[in-house]
This record gives sequence, structure tokens and C-alpha cells, in this order.
Amino acid sequence: MANDITLELQRKIEALERKNKLLEEGLHQAERLRQMYDRTAQELKSSKSLLIRHSAELAESESRFREIFNTVNDAIFIHDAQTGRIVEVNQRMCEMYGITRDEALASGPDDLSAGTPPYSSAEASEKIRLARTEGTQIFEWQARARDGHLFWVEVSLRFALIGSQQRILAMVRDITERKQIELKLQESEERFRKAFQNSAIGMALVGLDGHWLKVNHSLCQIVGYSEPELLSKTFQDITHPDDLQTDLDFVAQLLAGERDHYQMEKRYFHKDGHIVWIRLSVSLIRDAQDNPIHFVSQIDDITEDKLVDEKIRQLNEELETKVRQRTRQLLDTQDELVRREKLAVLGQVAGSVGHELRNPLGVMNNAVFFLQTVLSDADETTREYLNIIKDEIAASERIVSDLLDSVRTKPSHPERLALAELMQQTLRKCSVPSSVVVKLDIPATLAPLRVDPLQIHQVLRNLISNGIEAMPEGGVLEISAIENNLGGTITVSVKDSGIGMTPEQLGKLFQPLFTTKARGVGLGLVVVKNLTEANGGKISVESEVGKGTLFTVTLPATEETGVSI
Ligand code: ADP
Ligand code: MG
Repeated sequence: MANDITLELQRKIEALERKNKLLEEGLHQAERLRQMYDRTAQELKSSKSLLIRHSAELAESESRFREIFNTVNDAIFIHDAQTGRIVEVNQRMCEMYGITRDEALASGPDDLSAGTPPYSSAEASEKIRLARTEGTQIFEWQARARDGHLFWVEVSLRFALIGSQQRILAMVRDITERKQIELKLQESEERFRKAFQNSAIGMALVGLDGHWLKVNHSLCQIVGYSEPELLSKTFQDITHPDDLQTDLDFVAQLLAGERDHYQMEKRYFHKDGHIVWIRLSVSLIRDAQDNPIHFVSQIDDITEDKLVDEKIRQLNEELETKVRQRTRQLLDTQDELVRREKLAVLGQVAGSVGHELRNPLGVMNNAVFFLQTVLSDADETTREYLNIIKDEIAASERIVSDLLDSVRTKPSHPERLALAELMQQTLRKCSVPSSVVVKLDIPATLAPLRVDPLQIHQVLRNLISNGIEAMPEGGVLEISAIENNLGGTITVSVKDSGIGMTPEQLGKLFQPLFTTKARGVGLGLVVVKNLTEANGGKISVESEVGKGTLFTVTLPATEETGVSI
């Protein structure tokens, strides 16, 4: 029994031990679970704090983004890439377009643009297409504010993935001010271009090498070239060679900074070859670094003015010549008047003196004749002296008759008269020196003259003695006569081979008191002319210095010809 008890006890103990073991295992398990719980709780705690930190950071970043989004100076539109609908706009956008965010989100495609090409939804769609295929698009656009006013913006358009959504991002900057300046600049440029092109004066930009760079319509008209023709040339090509150097000198002075512009009058060749006068003004244009860029030229056509100037100059010249001629004529007339005045006085004196001298000269002549007769056997010297006295009396008588004939022409008493005979008588009265050869050629068949014998005798005597006096070294005196059948006149020529006359002397010939001789009186030819004309004749003269002189006297002849008397 004991055994049984023992066995029982032993079984119970064993059972208790098993239970104990199970209990221990259970305790272990519980301990492990507790530890696991603790660890998990710990982990949970730390991940919660991480979560709190992360969400704080997220909130901060989002508010930072919001702040930037709302405070940038550019309007920002976020569109849905699929529908194109505006899904978000920033504060600036609302200010720029004068609308609320809700109104912006409700806006259609044309509401915020000018709405007319090239600023309408069709063009905007095209920009979006390009942004999708080619990347960011930057362009200028005309936008419309809520109140309807249009303003200029610069748009930067691109596709972006925001979160998991495909979005179109538009950054819009207000450039109205810049655009207005640009437009003003364009306008002023356009105004300048029009002024340049339509200016009535020729205008051009010229390169430093002389090539025309820009020319206006007026310049083309002045030189007759079309614009392309002119642009292929240099200013040197069409400048008159006589003006080129002056022009180039001025250009060099401009380039050297010695002057800032120049003006000159010069000549261009028109396309058709004729000369065009222009007034040119040139300035040099330099860049900000003071390097020369090109010339600006103004070209004014002054051909007409030049022609008028030339005409005026010619007229002035003609006028001056006329005034000179007139003055000379007046002076000549004055001289003539003075001379006539003098002559009138002289005539009165000479008339009475001459008359008074004639008688004593006649007496002296008779006395010499008497002496020569009674002293026919006188010695050589006495006879020579008597001859000298006789010659001088003859010379004095001639002067006296010249004096008298020059101041008063007696009426002529024409007679039928043979020239040959009259000439012989005249030659006898003239003392011809031995150094002078007289060649006489008067045809015997010549018609008789119809003149006053004494007067024509005096004409011939004066011409012959002048001829002889023109040949102090000797020479030939040719006396000839021909008949002019048609006119019924006879022309007598007296030609010497003497000193001749200058044109100036010839001009003064036949003027009373004109003489080049020391002992001359200057009345001989006056008498010759007066008496010739008084007998219905004419006188002319040809002369050359050093060669001789030819006097021709044309006198009336009688009707009959070839009859010798
Ligand atoms: P005078 O003989 O007294 O000088 P004239 O009237 O006869 O006066 O001539 C006037 C001038 O004309 C002369 O002084 C002379 O200069 C010039 N003359 C006239 N005839 C001739 C001639 N045959 N050859 C050159 N000169 C002449
Ligand atoms: Mg004389």
C-alpha cells in the first residue's frame, strides 16, 4: 500500500511537476509577450512622433509654397492638361486681371485674352500644343482685364506634373510699360523712316568706304538711278572728277575729328550723263565707343539756281561790257565835242591868221623868184639857199591852205579833168627824195574825172607827201588808177612801203590835229577827207606796221570812157 501511496504520490508529484513546468513555460511565454508588447509600444510611440514631425514639415513647406505662390510678382495659372480648365490661380493673377479667384476658376478660354487674332483661344491652343511637343514656350500676349482694358503680358507656358496630375503652368508677367516704350520707339522709328523716305531733300546714309547704304526717293530722282542701282555704287562713282578731291579732303577731316560736319557745292553725273549741281551737307555718326559708323548726307538739287546764277552772271557781264562800250562812246563823244570846240576856236584864229599869212608868203615867193632871176649866175651856195627858202615858202603855203581848207570847205567847181595830167602837176609840186622810187600806173584810156581840179590836186598832194614822209629810209611809192565801169567812178591808189600804222593810229586817222610827226600839224588828212567828200568821192585806208599803207580814193568820172583830152 505504501507502495501504492508512494506510487500515487509519485504520480501526483510527477503531475505536479508537469503542471509546474507548463506554468513555467506559460510564464516565459507571458514574459516574451510583454517584452514584445513593450517593444511595439515603443516603436509605435517613436513612429507617432515622426509622423507628427513629418506632418509639421509638410504643413510648413506647403505654407511656404503658398506664400511664394501668392506673393510672386507674376500671375500664375494652373490648368488641367486634359480639359484646359483653370484649376488654380495666385493672388497676383487676381490683382492683374481684377477678378476673384472663383471668377478666375470659372473663366473660359477667351475671357482673359484680347480675344481677337492673334490673341484668341485658337492661337493659345497652338501655343499649348507647342509647349507639349517642344517644351517651354515664351511669348508676348495681349490680355484682357475684368473691366475690359487690354494690357500686354509675357507668358511662359510649360507642362508640369503636380502631385500625380498633368498640369499646364502659365507664368504671366505684366510688360505693358515696356511694350508701350517699345511701341513708341517703333512709332518714332517709323516716323523717322517716313520723314527720311518722303523728304523733298535727297538723304542718304553712306558707308565709310563711300558706298550708299540707304538712299531716299528724292536722291534717286536727283541722280536718275533706281534705289538698287544707287546702292550698288559709291558716291565717288557719280561725283564729277573736278569736285572729288575737295570732297575726299572733307571726309578725311571728318574721320580725323577735325570737324563734325561739312557743306559744299558740287557736281554729280546724272544717270543719263548730264551734270547736276547739288548742295551737300555731311555729318559723321559714331557709336558709343566713338568709333565712326557711317556718314549722313543731305543732298539738295541746286542746278536750277546755278543756271539762274550763270544767267545773271552772263547778263551782268553783258551789262558791264555794254556800260564799258557806252562809257567809251561817251568819252569819245566828249573828246569829239572838246575837239570840235577847240577846232571851232582854232578855225576862227587859223582862218584869219592863215589869210593874213598868205599875202606875206606870196610876196616872199615873188621876191625869191625875182632874186633867182637876177642872181642866175650867183654862186652855188646862194642858189641852194634861195631854193631852200623857196621850198620852205611852199611848205608854209601848204600848211596855210591846209589850215584854211580844214576849217572851211569852199564849194567845189567840178570840171572834166584827166587824172594823168593832174597827177603829173601834183608830183612836180612835191619834192620826191632820191631814196624814193615813184611807180606811176595810170592807164591812158581812163575816163576823165569830174572834180574840182584845185581841190583834188590838194588831196593827191597830201596823200603823196604823207607817203613820202612814211618812208624816211626810202622805198617805193606806187600810184595807180582803175576805172569802175559800173559805178562810173575812178579809184586812185597811193601805196607806200613805209612804216605803216597801228590799229590805234588807224582809229584816230582823219581826226583834226592827230599827228605822229615832230613837225606835223595833223590837218592834211582832214583836208583830204573833206575835199574828197565835197567832190562826191570816198576814201579808205589799209595799213600794217612795218609794211606800208594804201590809201584809195574813189572819185566820180565823166560818162565818156577811153577819151583822152
Ligand atoms: P601830218 O602829216 O601833219 O602828221 P596828216 O593828217 O597828213 O598830218 O597825217 C596824220 C597822221 O597820219 C600822220 O602824222 C601819220 O601818223 C599818219 N599817216 C598819214 N599817212 C600815212 C602814211 N602813208 N603812212 C604812215 N602814217 C601815215
Ligand atoms: Mg600830212
